[in-house]
Amino acid sequence: MVEFKHVDEVVCDSKSIPFEELIAIVKDVLSTDAVKKPVVIDDEGKVISGQELCIALKILGVRYLPVVRKGFQEALSISLKDLGFFDDISPTPLKVFRSSEELLIKNWPTPLLQLKSESDNRRRVWAKLEGFNPFSMSVKDRIGWYMFRKAVERYGGRVPTLLVEATSTNTGLALAAMCGLHGSKLRAYIPSTISKTGELLLKLFGAEVVRSDKPLTVDLIGDVEEVARKLGALHLNQFYNDANFEVHLRYTAKELELQVREAGIKPKAIIGGLGTSGHMSAIALYFKSRFNGVKIYGVVPKEGTTIQGIRRVESGMKWVHNVEIDGIVDVHPEEAINSVIELARKEGILVGLSSGAVHAAYRKVGGGEGDYILIFPDHGFKYVEQLGKYFERG
Ligand code: PLP
Repeated sequence: MVEFKHVDEVVCDSKSIPFEELIAIVKDVLSTDAVKKPVVIDDEGKVISGQELCIALKILGVRYLPVVRKGFQEALSISLKDLGFFDDISPTPLKVFRSSEELLIKNWPTPLLQLKSESDNRRRVWAKLEGFNPFSMSVKDRIGWYMFRKAVERYGGRVPTLLVEATSTNTGLALAAMCGLHGSKLRAYIPSTISKTGELLLKLFGAEVVRSDKPLTVDLIGDVEEVARKLGALHLNQFYNDANFEVHLRYTAKELELQVREAGIKPKAIIGGLGTSGHMSAIALYFKSRFNGVKIYGVVPKEGTTIQGIRRVESGMKWVHNVEIDGIVDVHPEEAINSVIELARKEGILVGLSSGAVHAAYRKVGGGEGDYILIFPDHGFKYVEQLGKYFERG
């Protein structure tokens, strides 16, 4: 007989399964919106058969798992909703929070805002405002929180003393906040292209900052790995750590589905920036599995230019190659800046340069009827220095 056990009562073998296999299971579960096989467990709750499904369901954040005891095999179909799939997204309505970590996760979903200046009776354009996250005021709070939490869990609750990470500011700020909250210390390695403001903010949050003369954050990974080995420090490595991809699958994408349903949106396209590719790869996997016909576009800086937070696909990204993307859109930094200014003047919102790039990309691929969703990764306060230079040039 099938029983429903709380996920914490079921012990999957922690052996890692190939990423492609995991993606295939996640895709199947998300697209059918159901689990069709129970997990087989022994009397101690250890999984005997269905390890991969168990791991995939835990990553997706279901609250319950359908299980049977050894010897039984039953076919079934249980909807994700009935397994507590959406229970993860439980905002606190009156916004009273008992810690800033709770302020982060119980304040999700981040707002989905209709851009009035872009919408008419044929077309609606929506922006998901990741700048409403509390630490770095960016999408990176999600990965800073999740990577840190997962590492602590892996070390049996032991909090690491020193973390080292290559960052273009936002991940560093999120990790510095987590370190501050839990009594650890962050040493952030930043590339040469990061603004003084970014460096100052990291120091303000208590991070030690090491500025490199290399221009891309991803170029620093090798050096940081070396330092981590020498010092015995923890290198979470946002570029390769699957917790990055997983947190966006479990929260960012899932909450966007709830918002889309609430607003009666039929997403025609979702457009977002590519840095590590974490958030857009997860959104692509999730929405391609659950929404027929939705197009996904990734936004990168035009060749030979830089826009803080995003980069060219050929500079090396982990997850984007495992999911279906309909197009990569190149944006020049000037186009991104013009979009930031236009959004401030027409919508009254200040967003970062990669959000400007996403808006500029929408102008290139959007235009038809339907609902377009733009993912705006961060708030614009960090970029006033760059924007100021732009104004000075006239
Ligand atoms: N925009 C900003 C401002 C960022 O900091 C980042 C990541 O560093 C991104 C976009 C890209 O996000 P992801 O790393 O999930 O691809």
